[in-house]
Amino acid sequence: MESSSYYEVAVIGAGPVGSYVAKTLAEQQVSVVLIEQHKTIGCPVNCAGLVSKRVFETFQIPPDDIVQNTITTAHIHSPSGHKLCIGGDKPHAYRIDRSIFDRYLSNKAQKKGAELLLSEKAISLQRDPQRVNIETSKGRHIQAEIVIGADGPYSRVRDIFGFPQPKEFLRGIGAQLVDTNLDGSSVEIFIGNRIAPGFFAWLIPTNEKGTAAHIGLCVHKQSEQSLKTYFKQLFNDTSLSSFISDATISYQTGGVIPLGPLKQIVDERVVLVGDAAAQVKPTSGGGIYPGLLCARYCAQTVREAIQEQRYTTEFLQKYQDECRQDIGKELSKGMYFRKIFTGLSDQQFDRYIKRFQQKNIQETITEYGDIDYPSRLVKPLLKKTPSLLRLVSHLVT
Ligand SMILES: Cc1cc2nc3c(=O)[nH]c(=O)nc-3n(C[C@H](O)[C@H](O)[C@H](O)COP(=O)(O)OP(=O)(O)OC[C@H]3O[C@@H](n4cnc5c(N)ncnc54)[C@H](O)[C@@H]3O)c2cc1C
Repeated sequence: MESSSYYEVAVIGAGPVGSYVAKTLAEQQVSVVLIEQHKTIGCPVNCAGLVSKRVFETFQIPPDDIVQNTITTAHIHSPSGHKLCIGGDKPHAYRIDRSIFDRYLSNKAQKKGAELLLSEKAISLQRDPQRVNIETSKGRHIQAEIVIGADGPYSRVRDIFGFPQPKEFLRGIGAQLVDTNLDGSSVEIFIGNRIAPGFFAWLIPTNEKGTAAHIGLCVHKQSEQSLKTYFKQLFNDTSLSSFISDATISYQTGGVIPLGPLKQIVDERVVLVGDAAAQVKPTSGGGIYPGLLCARYCAQTVREAIQEQRYTTEFLQKYQDECRQDIGKELSKGMYFRKIFTGLSDQQFDRYIKRFQQKNIQETITEYGDIDYPSRLVKPLLKKTPSLLRLVSHLVT
């Protein structure tokens, strides 16, 4: 095929973040093309699908068909089986159907006027002083004033334009289970270097009865064994047996999580957003909330750039500064917490989980714990338990 089309903005990748940025620009009368390599939006899904209420409130997304289950409690299991219970009756998180969520956002983008190209991969991007020229896998030529790289953890846009790389990539694996035996309102989190070195494993009930669940784990890249081995071991681990002894896998997925927000996410006529920019919470691997938040700043600056026809790095810098001042600070603190977390031995995990079982500490975590802003817990927790300061200073020096 030999054809050439012009748009003010080309968004590469129709994940939730790309679709949201395309929708926000299109509703402000910017001409947008959204290019997605897969033939179906939201497929395959590489996500545990746990988000906060904020995702629906802040971005005005109706939860109706998207939310599968409401989570009020988290049980954190230490390597030797000590259990910390956080939460209570109030909803703390929602398990969502990621396919429906992604499709909702891409449909919205289309309804607002963005053009969606499916089964089309952006294979070459070249910038000249006037435009960015994109060639797709179908031989289509697209010209745009600005390109937004929303193309996920292994962003091609990031590589082509020489942006820095995320500090770290976690490898993740997950599966949907049927016939589980869970409390439908509680997530089970399993920590420790035996189960999931460098991160954690999870069981998230996907229905109210707890008879279906998402199981998964992430590990850091330097882990001794293969991801599949850790996953196999997880099924045989005694700490999970009461939940999954009769369960069977209905489908399995895998993916990577980029950590360490990039220092530079704008360049002349090019910006990065979402996983492409590693806008992901280092404590939980959640990228939906921070990605959408940054997408909003991204759309705002890009629209202004189009209006004023100013595509320089200096002009686009506003987007980068706004992200940094807002969620960027939280993500940086998250990297700091991660450093503490990854420095702990299994014995230390046991000791701290046991310690955190004290009623007043559990109440503090329940009151101030926030999956999008975990740092908000630090001050109240240190006030209640000043001795934790020793842990921080000991591990971070
Ligand atoms: C195991 C696992 C569990 C997770 N659990 C959670 C969770 O519970 N909660 C949470 O908030 N987050 C979770 N995440 C993270 C979350 O999935 C991501 O942060 C989120 O999907 C980022 O959205 P995005 O739109 O930036 O990128 P993506 O969702 O990766 O979308 C990028 C899109 O770009 C497309 N693309 C890539 N290259 C090209 C190209 N060259 N041309 C055209 N299209 C292209 C891809 O096909 C894809 O559709 C998890 C991730 C993993 C791996």
